[in-house]
Amino acid sequence: MRCFNVPFISSAAVVVAVKCATAQTAVPLVDIKSVDPTMVIELRYAGANNLAGRALYPPGTPALVRPEVASRLVTAQAILRRYQYQLKIWDAYRPKSVQMQLWQAAHNNDYVADPQAGAGSLHSWGVAVDATLIDTWNRPVLMPTDFDDFTPAAMWHYRGADPAIRSHLHLLQIAMRDAGFYGLRAEWWHFVIVNWQKYLPPEELKRALQAFGMR
Ligand SMILES: [Zn+2]
Repeated sequence: MRCFNVPFISSAAVVVAVKCATAQTAVPLVDIKSVDPTMVIELRYAGANNLAGRALYPPGTPALVRPEVASRLVTAQAILRRYQYQLKIWDAYRPKSVQMQLWQAAHNNDYVADPQAGAGSLHSWGVAVDATLIDTWNRPVLMPTDFDDFTPAAMWHYRGADPAIRSHLHLLQIAMRDAGFYGLRAEWWHFVIVNWQKYLPPEELKRALQAFGMR
């Protein structure tokens, strides 16, 4: 799919409208760093350390999301900072062309959304992020699994015995919940804003709700 970026300025930050020629839908997005320069970003699909084993994003790709998602991330960050933790963003807006490559690499729709089914991945609508916890000194902390670990250990409900992992995961989940995100049953790092439905065009929303078994 051929996509192109149309930069324009909003009152809050630089907004980039990612317009996909085939979708005929402009998705207004902001660079998370332009909203909160302190946010730690490590886009895993920009390097080889991901399930495809190669970079899927061009060098220098920013972490883009809907403006509302960015402001909710700032809220989550403020909550975490009270406890001397912060977010690290593993993925944000994901073009459908990249979702297609992931789908081909994984081919397991329990974990990777089929870009041709439903509305595809909610990452492609700028309403989902993948995030983990780090401490305020930017050091990693113990979490249940690494990113894109498609094993039972990646479930939202941690069943392991390590109390440190349990408390880190709980803190991430509470902060994201209080900032207005839903989690995902099989991927503890995946979060979607609670009102994501308002950002999908009606036809895409219908397909997404059918795919998710909601009406
Ligand atoms: Zn995700």
